[in-house]
Amino acid sequence: MENTNKFTVKFRGIRGSYPTPLKGFLQIGGNTSCVEINVGGHLIILDAGTGIISLGNELMKKHIASSDDFFTRTPINATILLSHIHSDHIQGFNFFKPLNILTSKIRVFGSSDYNESLQNNIQQLLYGKSFPISINDISADLEISNITESEILIFGQNNPIPFKKRFISADDIIPSGEEVIISCMKSFAHYPDGVMIYKISYKDKSLVYATDKESYVGADKKLAFFARNTDLLIHDSQYTGEDYLSPIAPKQGFGHSTFEMAIETAKAAQAKKLAFFHFDPSYDDEKLKNIEKYYQGQFENCFMAYEGFETELL
Ligand SMILES: [Zn+2]
Ligand SMILES: [Zn+2]
Repeated sequence: MENTNKFTVKFRGIRGSYPTPLKGFLQIGGNTSCVEINVGGHLIILDAGTGIISLGNELMKKHIASSDDFFTRTPINATILLSHIHSDHIQGFNFFKPLNILTSKIRVFGSSDYNESLQNNIQQLLYGKSFPISINDISADLEISNITESEILIFGQNNPIPFKKRFISADDIIPSGEEVIISCMKSFAHYPDGVMIYKISYKDKSLVYATDKESYVGADKKLAFFARNTDLLIHDSQYTGEDYLSPIAPKQGFGHSTFEMAIETAKAAQAKKLAFFHFDPSYDDEKLKNIEKYYQGQFENCFMAYEGFETELL
């Protein structure tokens, strides 16, 4: 197990809707949603957009370098949390190479959208007619499970995979000792079947991942409470206020927030830092950098998430 006194966040994919591998877009990044978290010796991956592919490739390199003998190589253990099953949050999953390794243990959690289990949704969307192999042909020890707001995931010190439990008091979601705890909140502010928002807590630090959600007038109070005092709030910021309210092509009701909405919720939650995330695919580097400069003048603890950016919470 790796160094346990660690809580790092690395943005692997920050783009909303679809990848933008285009000149003028690559400083902020062209890959769709994926955030790598290394916490307490555990690897947690938020969403499986195309950003997960480079992460999988790096994990494979380390795995191969760990031994010449296949069976004594350090196994890859990862927990993937899916916000929802729109294509930009799952389209990298098939190409996550650790799935091809017998010794990998991969656990995937998310909500049961459209009255289907997550397992069925993944199987139909990613391993149906659009991909050459079946989900049953995956070599890794893979389990795909539903999770609800009333459940939490707990990583113990010597357990590479989390166990799920219902929680009955607020104390249950406060980690003790070396525990890492994941709690979640369902938001219905994303058409048509909502989105799961996750909080990862370790020692006295936490991070909240809230992508693909539209905000409400006066901030999203449920989210502000869920994310209260968090060290890092990663929040959907797909549109400028101008595009959101465009009289010709308004984006109201599309299930995404503006930069202002993200700031409003971060302030209501008293989040220590805010990462803007999930940018409209038409916004290039120049536009996003100007937007960042403008909003840092209003809320100094905000920044534009960009591909490859890494920060430590502990
Ligand atoms: Zn999205
Ligand atoms: Zn979506």
